[in-house]
Amino acid sequence: MAGTVIRIVIDADRCQGHARCAVRAPELFDVDDDQGKSFALTENVPPELSDAAADAVETCPERAISLHEE
Ligand code: SF4
Repeated sequence: MAGTVIRIVIDADRCQGHARCAVRAPELFDVDDDQGKSFALTENVPPELSDAAADAVETCPERAISLHEE
């Protein structure tokens, strides 16, 4: 929908830091090696990366990533 913003939320309690998200969508995710947790490189997903964001959600075995449309 035009004007819709997709925001990435990562549940740090679930995240195990194995970086599948960062491999699948390196433009959107990275892993903090010290904390062993993933973080989003951008809070709001650019439209051209919405498929990559959805792909990362699917690839996370811990179900730690969610996307929120606002
Ligand atoms: S794939 Fe999921 S559990 Fe693994 S680092 Fe990414 S967000 Fe964390």
